[in-house]
Order: sequence, then C-alpha cells, then structure tokens
Amino acid sequence: MKDKIKVELRNLTKTFVTNKNDQVRAVDNVNLTINPGEFVCLLGPSGCGKTTTLRMLAGFEIPTSGEIFIGDRNVANLTPDKRDTAMVFQNYALFPHLNVYDNIAYGLKLQKLPKAEIRERVDKILKLMKMEDFALRVPSEMSGGQQQRVSLARALIMESGVLLFDEPLSNLDAKLRIHMRDEIRKIQKQVGISSIYVTHDQEEAMGLSDKIVIMRDGTIQQVGSPREIYQKPVNEFVAQFIGRANILEGTIVADNKDRVSLDIHGVVYETERTTGHGAGDRVKFMIRPESFLIGGKDFTAPVTKSVFMGSHHEYEVELFGKIFEISENNPMRKVTIDVGENLSFSMDPNSIHILEQ
Ligand code: ATP
Repeated sequence: MKDKIKVELRNLTKTFVTNKNDQVRAVDNVNLTINPGEFVCLLGPSGCGKTTTLRMLAGFEIPTSGEIFIGDRNVANLTPDKRDTAMVFQNYALFPHLNVYDNIAYGLKLQKLPKAEIRERVDKILKLMKMEDFALRVPSEMSGGQQQRVSLARALIMESGVLLFDEPLSNLDAKLRIHMRDEIRKIQKQVGISSIYVTHDQEEAMGLSDKIVIMRDGTIQQVGSPREIYQKPVNEFVAQFIGRANILEGTIVADNKDRVSLDIHGVVYETERTTGHGAGDRVKFMIRPESFLIGGKDFTAPVTKSVFMGSHHEYEVELFGKIFEISENNPMRKVTIDVGENLSFSMDPNSIHILEQ
C-alpha cells in the first residue's frame, strides 16, 4: 500500500467566461486541507462550485489562479495523467464490451505491466470488493450498484494517492445508495486513501465524511466534522442546509467568558457561548426539531401539523408569529397531539446554538 497523501488547495479560483462574455466565478479563493487518509465531502446547493473544485483536482479544469498541492507537488497546471489521482464517475464510465476483469485491468495494461502482476492485482481488488464471481460478466449483465463497485475497483487498482468521487451514487435507488455508501466508507478506511467526494445529498455527506466542506457561491462556508456542522453551524445558511433547523431570536441578558443567558420571549435559558455577542445584543439562534422537550412548561402553542413518521412524530406549532418544527422520537408514545390542540414544550438549553450572523 502507498503512503497516505495530504492534499492542499491554496487560494484556488476558477473564473469561466461564457458565450456572452460574462464572467462566472465558479470557485472563489478556496483554501482547504485534506489530511492524509481523510475522507472529505464537498457539499452544497447546485451551482456552488463543488464539481469545478473536483475537476480542478483531477486536472479536467485548469485553475484561473491558486495552487493544488498533492503531497509536496503543485499539480495545478498538470494534465490528469500526470497527477496522482483516480476518479469514480456518476455514470460509472465502464467499457461496455469489456468484462469486469478487463475493465479493472485496463489502466494497468496501458502501463504495460507484466501479465502476472496485472492478474495478481486484479484478483486482489476483486476479492476486496467481494466481486470474484463477477469477473467474466460485462456491464450490461450487472445492476447499477454492481457496476459502480467495478468502477470503484477500477479506480482503486491504480493505487493513486488520492481518490476523487463525482456524485457516484446518484443513479442508484435509495436503499442501494445507503448500502454502497457504507461499502465505500469501509473500503476507503481499509485502503486508507485520501478521498474527496462531491455530493448534494446531506445524508450521504454525514454518513461518509471525516470532514464536510459546505460551499456556497464558490466559497467555503464551514469545514467541520459531521457533528460540528450539524450541532454548531456557523451561520443560518449552514444550519438550514444540513438537517432541519428552527432559526429564532432572543436577547442576551447576561454573559461571562463561556456562557450566556438568553431571554426568549420571557423565558431565560443559559447556554454555551459560541459568538462574540454580549449582554444587550439581539441574536439569532438555532434549535433542531429534536431538541425540544415535549411536555415542558415554558411554552404552549396550537399544533398546525401533526404527522406520524414511524421513527418519530413531526409537529409544527405556531408561536410568536413563527412556525416551530418539533419532532418527537417516541413512536410508542400513547398520546399524540392533534392539529388544533395545544402542545406544551421547553427547550433543551444545551441545544440552543447562537449563530454568528
Ligand atoms: P451541481 O450540484 O448542479 O453539479 P456544482 O456545485 O457542482 O453544481 P459547478 O458545476 O461547479 O457547481 O458550477 C459552479 C458555477 O460555475 C455555476 O454557476 C455554473 O453555472 C458555472 N459553470 C460551470 N462550468 C461552466 C462553464 N464551462 N462555463 C461557464 N460557467 C460554468
């Protein structure tokens, strides 16, 4: 196995010029470090610049400015074949007339490696992917999930330092996506290859990543572990983009170094300090639907939506002119509250997260 490799993007910018001579800044001064062996997902809404960033890493686009270090080499201006990267594509990109064995062996044959070595490496990868029984099938004889496994095997066999994924699971159905996601994660950890994965599916990013990068309009909004991004988003955009979030307002009535007291419509909660705000400041904060304490006495409001979802029950209540999303993880609870009835609840102070802006 090769040494794990660090990847660094430094002041990376890509400006496209359209047919009508308009300039589109697809990636805007991005700085990012992918530590050796790390799995990093680029996540964000359509058009935020994730694919362009990945394509610059692969060498399919040349940056307008900035540097891309793979190990200690700046590869920003090199062609794809001169970089230590391999890519797994959304549409599998397998050769339809070649069987699984030959698809996987293709890159090694181009390198003119001895036949015996090719056989040994392909056999090893087939075993790793648990695909020994598929070696002689052609792509049309396999399911989408199986084809994507071949495509992953074909990238892994090159033993590159960096693996790039361009939404590889988006053509698969929901159940298979989860299965493949777990498989990719397991194999990536086993092989230890530094990986960068583009997706707009937040659950996929949560399930795969050591680190998630949230992008918007070509810029990075936040980099953090799935837990940090979910529980401590830096701003409203990140809070809304990952999971469901209630964004509410309160006034800080007291603060010290680590804690603040927040007045929310006459109820005061003490919570962790996450911003530079102080006493007297009006602030926005986030609380997730699952962080309300149903049955608590602090607030009472009429229910406007009440839906049993199996693993949890979803409520919406109207209070202070806002809709609060509240979810209860208790499917066996006897009492559910119907639309029009009142729901009483409190907030879990430790789950109140004050936002920067
Ligand atoms: P999606 O999830 O829809 O694939 P994305 O986050 O991957 O979106 P990019 O494909 O990187 O976004 O595009 C970023 C921006 O750059 C978009 O505004 C897009 O229209 C623009 N763009 C991308 N490629 C070109 C091009 N060849 N010429 C002009 N503009 C481009």
